[in-house]
Amino acid sequence: MDVFDLSSQEEFSPMKPLTKRPRKCFNQASDTLNQSSDKQSSGTLTVETSSSCDVKSDKPEVNLTERVDDIKRTSVSTEDANFVTDKTNIQGTNGAEVNSGDNCDRDCRKPVYIYDQELVRRCDAMPKIINRASMVHSLIEAYGLISLMQVVPPRRASDEEMMGFHAKDYIDFLALLSRQTDEEKFDEESDQYGLTYDCPINHHVYAYAALTSGASLRAAECLLEGRSIVAINWCGGWHHAKRDTASGFCYVNDIVLSILKLREKYDRVLYVDLDVHHGDGVEDAFCASSKVMTVSVHKHSPGFFPGSGGLNDGGVGKGRGHTVNIPLQDGMRDKEFVPLVCRVLRKVQEVFRPQAVVCQCGADGLSGDPMDSFNLTHTAYSCCVQFILQWTLPTLILGGGGYHSANTARCWTYLTAVICGRKPPTDIPDHKFFMAYGPDYELPISPGNRRNTNSRENLQRIYNSIIESLNKLTVS
Ligand code: MN
Repeated sequence: MDVFDLSSQEEFSPMKPLTKRPRKCFNQASDTLNQSSDKQSSGTLTVETSSSCDVKSDKPEVNLTERVDDIKRTSVSTEDANFVTDKTNIQGTNGAEVNSGDNCDRDCRKPVYIYDQELVRRCDAMPKIINRASMVHSLIEAYGLISLMQVVPPRRASDEEMMGFHAKDYIDFLALLSRQTDEEKFDEESDQYGLTYDCPINHHVYAYAALTSGASLRAAECLLEGRSIVAINWCGGWHHAKRDTASGFCYVNDIVLSILKLREKYDRVLYVDLDVHHGDGVEDAFCASSKVMTVSVHKHSPGFFPGSGGLNDGGVGKGRGHTVNIPLQDGMRDKEFVPLVCRVLRKVQEVFRPQAVVCQCGADGLSGDPMDSFNLTHTAYSCCVQFILQWTLPTLILGGGGYHSANTARCWTYLTAVICGRKPPTDIPDHKFFMAYGPDYELPISPGNRRNTNSRENLQRIYNSIIESLNKLTVS
């Protein structure tokens, strides 16, 4: 099977910038985004969406379930999803329980958005992503998306909760440092716990880690409670943290904790990691489990952090076959990324039949990111997220990497709009960080000119290998 379905490649052209002619994507919401975008000007979202969005602006609330059902109905034909070559529909076929509306208030279908000022303030202070959280939240707010969501404040994860994954001595050490002012006294021990280089330690780290983890846990709880079918925490997604060490800007693994939380109700949980780095901390945590399948797409190249995540790393023991890695090279573009990732996800859904999904949307694979690796745009991320949403499973959406703050804010605002069933106007609205979006002051991200070093033959080989292993799971 040809993963790229070359015969229909022309119709599927996610590389076209938003302001050009309409293009086909996976669903109606995306199509309307593209078709109408060249008429958009700055202004609030709700004013702009009435004509072409399936959610009318005069409706008092967004009916997320309806929208997702629409996606399911309208997006699965072989004409629309051009990478489908085997004539089977791409759709959520599993019978997993979907929130039917019991025990929920009138807002229950709005996506949950985890936010409070302290969460943003603490994330803003983290080295490598200084002020990023504010930029993301401010842009989402400037686009008028807040009123379309249920804003839920985070809570702090307790030590006991963090120890649900992490070693007691590691959490104790973070807590100890939070009470010190002279961190240098603890240099030696800090090294032992990975609290050095990329993970500098200071007395704010413990509070930051407890709050970001609690934010993801709160999001997972909202899904368990049936408050919504989608919950977003852009301040979460710290996939590298290990049981007893910090790693790659990650201190406490909020993803592992929230997957464990979802497992209280859902037997099988799927984790999807779109960050340009391998989701090693999450993979390690569940590599021996058949109840959590992890799928990470990432750059895999000598010297590139963290170095794990090869094609043949597929899990151990009972978890054998439940770890999927999609290792890629520099220059990856939307038009190869989307069909490859979505077709792998389709197969994963088919054989694993997840009952809930956690998707880490690390935006460091975007064109222009200082990681300087992939050449993706917001379209790649939104196509993958929409592909997952059409399964209508409880879905936790998390942030992660993304070191070009303005592009990360663009991408996650775009994703937030798509999750709300809206199309965001092209022009960045005036707001506190407006000047950071120059020189074009537009929402869409354009791909760069860099060469794609992933040959189609190699991508096809990766795809074939993954499908072959997944086929072995089609039992019991
Ligand atoms: Mn990844």
